Amino acid sequence: MILILKSNLVEQDVHRLLERLQWMGFNGALTCSNGQFRIGLTNGVDDQVHGAAFHELPEVEAVLPFSEPYKLASRGFKSENTVIIQEDKTIGAGQLAVIAGPCSIESEAQIDEIAAFVSSRGAQFLRGGAFKPRTSPYDFQGLGESGLKYMQQAAQRYGLVSVSEVMDGAEVPMLAEYVDVMQVGARNMQNYSLLKALGRINKPVLLKRGFSATYADLLMSAEYILQAGNPNVILCERGIRTFETYTRNTLDLAAIPILQQLSHLPVIVDPSHGTGRRELILPMSLAAVAAGASGLMIEVHPYPDASISDAKQTLSFEMFEQLMSRLAVEKVGVSF
Ligand code: PEP
Ligand code: MN
Repeated sequence: MILILKSNLVEQDVHRLLERLQWMGFNGALTCSNGQFRIGLTNGVDDQVHGAAFHELPEVEAVLPFSEPYKLASRGFKSENTVIIQEDKTIGAGQLAVIAGPCSIESEAQIDEIAAFVSSRGAQFLRGGAFKPRTSPYDFQGLGESGLKYMQQAAQRYGLVSVSEVMDGAEVPMLAEYVDVMQVGARNMQNYSLLKALGRINKPVLLKRGFSATYADLLMSAEYILQAGNPNVILCERGIRTFETYTRNTLDLAAIPILQQLSHLPVIVDPSHGTGRRELILPMSLAAVAAGASGLMIEVHPYPDASISDAKQTLSFEMFEQLMSRLAVEKVGVSF
């Protein structure tokens, strides 16, 4: 149930009401939509039983039912786009967010060299995996905590916001010490204990779509994070499994406008994992931007063929530079 609050209320009144509702045992999430505060009550509420009673509260102007199962993630709850703010960087505010870096952090020198280059070409975010969800247990699993330290140093040195994957709920506090944006990989999109743990921190969460997840599945996973108290979720389309084998995955660009219609959360695209082929990154990036994506996640390496993981889809510095120049020519807000 959504409580639309009277417009003359000040923030203090709103917080007092929220605390009272929580004391009564209701889980309330606060947002602002069309200039009005709203409280979404996500548990223990029966529209028939409680609707009229909540309408009587002096602070409440109107009561609306949630129209979708992904309650807090829906446009019906919040009409304005959510903007993710981390330090001085944003996702969803108009400027294209470019998240670039290696598939895996391989050494201190490697992540430093990549951070220096991608920041000089306009990326604002540095990606790099230290805990890698590899299909084979015999493949490189990532450098772990020491990799995160190298990445944190590099990100700070070049003024970048860091993004790295967390695979286990128990590791969330440790990763949060080093990483600015916590990534949930496609394989973990429905790891509900991980999603709940990420809902209890306030760092942004980049949630990747599972290989065979519908839009509703993705939004229900986002809902776990929002419902647990963290409103800072970024949705990422990274390709889905289809019968096609030429590409690693089929990049579903319709996901961008569809998710934007269904949800207020920002949508970014990962054409690297979405195609698995470096020659397709530039055209699919341009297409994603044309379709309205708020950001791109791109794998980059100085010697892409020598990348320990995902070599075939990784861009060289030269190809990344070409991509950034094309994005600037298309005037999508990349600044140098
Ligand atoms: C990644 O971005 O490092 C990654 C493993 O991607 P995905 O979870 O989309 O496969
Ligand atoms: Mn990768």
